Amino acid sequence: MISDVMSPRAGGSAMTDPFGRTISYLRVSITDRCDFRCVYCMSEDMTFLPRADLLTLEELDRLCSAFIARGVRKLRLTGGEPLVRRNMMSLVRSLSRHLDSGALDELTLTTNGSQLARFAAELRDCGVRRVNVSLDTLDPAKFRAITRWGDLDRVLEGINAALAAGLAVKINAVVLKGENEDEIPALMRWAHGLGMGLTLIEVMPLGEVGEGRIDQYVPLSLVRARLANNYTLSDLPDSTGGPARYVRVEETGGKLGFITPLTHNFCESCNRVRITCTGTIHTCLGQEDASDLRRPLRASPDDDLLNAAIDRAIGGKPKGHDFIIDRKHNRPSVSRHMSVTGG
Ligand code: SAM
Repeated sequence: MISDVMSPRAGGSAMTDPFGRTISYLRVSITDRCDFRCVYCMSEDMTFLPRADLLTLEELDRLCSAFIARGVRKLRLTGGEPLVRRNMMSLVRSLSRHLDSGALDELTLTTNGSQLARFAAELRDCGVRRVNVSLDTLDPAKFRAITRWGDLDRVLEGINAALAAGLAVKINAVVLKGENEDEIPALMRWAHGLGMGLTLIEVMPLGEVGEGRIDQYVPLSLVRARLANNYTLSDLPDSTGGPARYVRVEETGGKLGFITPLTHNFCESCNRVRITCTGTIHTCLGQEDASDLRRPLRASPDDDLLNAAIDRAIGGKPKGHDFIIDRKHNRPSVSRHMSVTGG
C-alpha cells in the first residue's frame, strides 16, 4: 500500500530526512505564554517573547498550510498554552478547511484545560475530535504546587466540557518524584473511569527551571513495575509511530501510555517536526538544532523560499537525541524550555 505521506498534495514534494524518515506530523507552538507555571516546565519569572516577534495567525496558517501541501497529515497546536492566544479559534477554524478537503487527517491540540470549558464545543465544531489535556494530580493543593498558578476545578470543568462536547480526551501526566508518583494508580482509575486514556511522561531536561532535574526525575520503568504489582498490563502494538508505548490495563479496560525519552529512545520512527510561534523549526526535541522559517516566509508571498528553507532544515534532522539526567548531568541538556516547542 502506498502511504498517504508519500503522496503530498499537488505542488509539494514529500519531506524525507537523510535517515529515510518521512515527516507527516507537525506540532506548532502558537504562543510561548501560559497561564500556568508548572515547576518542571517554566521558572516562575519567565521572560516571554515580545509580541512583535510572534508570527501572526495568518502567517501561522500559511506556514501550516505549506507543510500540509508537503505531506503533513496530522497537525497539533500547542504552546505555551494554545487556548490563551487571542483569537486562536480563528486559526483553528481556518485550518479546518484542510480537514474538509481531506488534505489533513487530524487537527488536534495539547492544552492545560484551563480554557476548555469556553472552547470545547467550538473546537468540536471546527473538526477537532481529540485533545490532550495535561494533568499531573487530582489533589487541589498539589495541583496548585505543581502548576504554581493553576486551579484544579477549572481544569476538571474543562475536561467535562470537552467530554460533553464529544471530544476524545487523553490525559498526559508528568511523573514527579515524591510529588505525584504515589497517585498514578488513582489518576489512572479516574481517567479510565471516564473513558479517557492516560499517558505518563518522564521529566525531560529542557530549559532552566530553577530546580535540579535529579530531584524531579522518576524512571517510568519503576512506575510500570509498581503498577504491574496490582494491574494486568497487556502490551498493545505500536500504532502511532510516536514516542509512546501503550498497554491495555485489563482491570480498567483503559489504555495507558508511557513516554520514556530517558529510559528508552524513540527516535528511529520519528515522523515529526516542531515549529515555534516565531517560526523557528526544530527537527528534534532533544537537540539544539534550529532553523528560521520566518524570514523566508516573510520574504516572498509565494512559498519557494520557504520550501527551500524547509528542505534544508529537514536535511539536517538529527538521527536522535541524547538526554541524560544523572548527578553529573543535573543541568538542562537543551537550553530551550518545553513551552517554546510545546512538547
Ligand atoms: N500548555 C499545554 C499543556 O499544558 O499541555 C501545552 C504545552 S506543555 C509545554 C506540553 C506538555 O509538555 C505538557 O504535558 C507538559 O506537562 C509537558 N512538559 C513540559 N515540560 C516538560 C519537561 N521538562 N519534561 C516532560 N514534560 C514536560
